[in-house]
Amino acid sequence: MSCGAGARTEDAPASALSTRVDIALRGVRMTAPVRRTGGAGPSDDGHVTIGGLDAAVPMRADSPYLVREGRLTLDGADLGLDVTPVRRPAFYDLTTADGTPYEKVARLHGRDVLATTVVQTCVRYDPAERCRFCAIEESLTAGATLAVKTPAVLAEVAAAAVRLDGVRHVVMTTGTSAGTDRGARHLARCVRAVRAAVPGLPVQVQCEPPGDLATLGDLHRAGTSSIGLHVESLDDAVRRRWMPGKSRVPLADYWAAWAEAVRVFGRNQVSTYLLVGLGEDPDELVAGAQRLVDLGVYPFVVPFRPLAGTLAVDVDGAGAPSRELLEDVTRRVADVLRAGRMRGSDQMAGCAACGACSVLSQAGA
Ligand code: SF4
Repeated sequence: MSCGAGARTEDAPASALSTRVDIALRGVRMTAPVRRTGGAGPSDDGHVTIGGLDAAVPMRADSPYLVREGRLTLDGADLGLDVTPVRRPAFYDLTTADGTPYEKVARLHGRDVLATTVVQTCVRYDPAERCRFCAIEESLTAGATLAVKTPAVLAEVAAAAVRLDGVRHVVMTTGTSAGTDRGARHLARCVRAVRAAVPGLPVQVQCEPPGDLATLGDLHRAGTSSIGLHVESLDDAVRRRWMPGKSRVPLADYWAAWAEAVRVFGRNQVSTYLLVGLGEDPDELVAGAQRLVDLGVYPFVVPFRPLAGTLAVDVDGAGAPSRELLEDVTRRVADVLRAGRMRGSDQMAGCAACGACSVLSQAGA
């Protein structure tokens, strides 16, 4: 095993992981200039580093964790961890020729990730169909983003983010389109444009499994480095309850797409989110993670977070998972990943490479 994240697990005190788990759920009392307040997926966080690792954590006035003079404290006690907010990037101050703020095109995540949702609408957004943890169209309704980002404008913003702020990789996700490609073709056009503007900048795309798996090869040829095909749960009953529209894509389609993606992109350049707290049996979740690792797919384990504007919160009143559950699953999946010699930091681009939304990096995976 080489240095870096692999060494952290053995060295880190057990309490560091427990603290990071607790912070992921209860947040910290501080302000951070780089925040994600909505959009696709399950997050609503401020971006900081904790003990040198990227972390996207809730900013909550009621958190028992207070950041004072850059140190994490609990009930006045210094917990031995530095917490540093990610600084506001300079590219946020720029606008396109037609006056669109760059910030509406793409956002900084962590210290060095440029993240964008290339199509901010989803064919599954009808309340009877949509994923209950998702708020992809809420930021569009609030005027915080554009419905569609063109390849040209993404290339312009990416070039500026690299030049001014040292961005090192890009995450492009998309709402699902009505076409059989489920949005992958527009992603490919966007990747090609960004790579032409900034040769060598790694890009991860995130989409549903395309109807024609040859599309994965098209994405790779466009210059995509890594891909996330996000299932969120491997339990069909959970999928039907939380993701009524998306659950109609059979799990078999995901396994076929993951296998083909690993063939095209390589082992550990493919990932999927697994959300903790949707009601999936933890043993089955960990067994599913083992199957994914065996195939070469990184299971990016992330806590479900209640996010205002989602059906999960506004209708269901769903809450976050318990600390015990999140820590148990994170530890066990981290063990599986280490045994399979897979680290998120070995992905060229994307969420596993960033790691901020998961506690896996704190667990050395
Ligand atoms: S893990 Fe993904 S969604 Fe979370 S901050 Fe990093 S790039 Fe953004």
